[in-house]
Amino acid sequence: MDTKLPDSGTTIFAVMSALAIEHKAINLSQGFPSFNPDQALLDLVTHYLNNNGNQYAPMLGVPALRQSIAEKVSMLYGRSVDPDREVTVCDGATEGLFSAIQAIVHPGDEVIVFDPAYDSYEPSVTLAGGKTVHIPLIVTTEKPDFHIDWERLKDSINEKTRLIILNFPHNPTGVILSAADLDVLADIVRDTKVYLLSDEVYEHIVFDGAAHQSFIRHDELWQRSFVISSFGKTYHATGWKVGYCVAPPALSNEFRKIHQWVCYAVVSPIQHALGDYMARTPDHYAALPAFYEEKRDRFCALVSESRFRFRPANGTFFQILDYSNITDEDDVSYAKRLTREIGVASIPISVFCEQTPASRKLRFCFAKDDDMLVEAAGRLCQL
Ligand code: PMP
Ligand code: GLN
Repeated sequence: MDTKLPDSGTTIFAVMSALAIEHKAINLSQGFPSFNPDQALLDLVTHYLNNNGNQYAPMLGVPALRQSIAEKVSMLYGRSVDPDREVTVCDGATEGLFSAIQAIVHPGDEVIVFDPAYDSYEPSVTLAGGKTVHIPLIVTTEKPDFHIDWERLKDSINEKTRLIILNFPHNPTGVILSAADLDVLADIVRDTKVYLLSDEVYEHIVFDGAAHQSFIRHDELWQRSFVISSFGKTYHATGWKVGYCVAPPALSNEFRKIHQWVCYAVVSPIQHALGDYMARTPDHYAALPAFYEEKRDRFCALVSESRFRFRPANGTFFQILDYSNITDEDDVSYAKRLTREIGVASIPISVFCEQTPASRKLRFCFAKDDDMLVEAAGRLCQL
């Protein structure tokens, strides 16, 4: 078979979760909460399942849900967006990312990503005929958290560069962008024709009082941005696979041309329920930073007794642990061995990088009940 994705194996999330099940390990690999959505939201889904919410939704998404998204965006990011022309509900962030990439990338175009990069970006670019250009996030003595090398980004942009994909709060490193970072990016792209795809699925999971810097907030960046989010992270419902794209009318128009052929419309009872729930409980997400910050602090306190080294995440529900004090084994083999031998599954970082990083790091998901975190950390501390 003449495959279109010769370099694509099975995604690490499927591999590690299957291994965790096989070995009955505590699964801190694939990112999903061990707890349920709010009962009131579940009741609304049941309501719409039983009350005529079961036929095709409109192609762009249920109007009440798009209205709720527009109101949230206006309240949080200070921009009034038109729910009919600028908001599209999609089949999880994954479809949103894929459709935005197909909409904008032509054969031969270059697309810049920052490593470690979420694993769906490159195959989507390849299928559009584009070439992915990888720029590693860097760590320096002055700035020990992973961050963008702006000079390298500037030098990497040429006339073939069509799109830059950014993902902050960042999976897997947990770092965030500042308002000043957005200004630096605006300076870099100002005189170019480059579009931006901002994957903001962790927009509501930011810690230590920091504010999420959405590209929707920034007057200049907004004009050239597709902003993608997901209800999965915000409502503890990753299995629902409902997300959305917010973009200016011309970009949304192109996005919708692809979206209609990829999935046409998204699961309707859940859209009705989310629209209703957001209207009734507009500040649900306001509680998320404190909720996940407590989980982060608990997990970090527990593993501080171990030989792992870390810098606490600034956002997302992932914590990176550096194991170079323990072994020199490569991260894929070490993650698999820990799953088999101590029953704790994690995600190796190197699979998100074009070039294997020198440091030894694993990603652990702390969106779990406390007893799971205590048990997993106890096992990690014995290493
Ligand atoms: N982008 C990032 C950075 C993610 O971590 C994920 C996984 N949740 C997605 C996109 C995909 O989101 P969804 O499950 O809504 O498709
Ligand atoms: N986004 C999730 C993670 O980073 C996994 C999503 C998936 O399984 N494709 O763990």
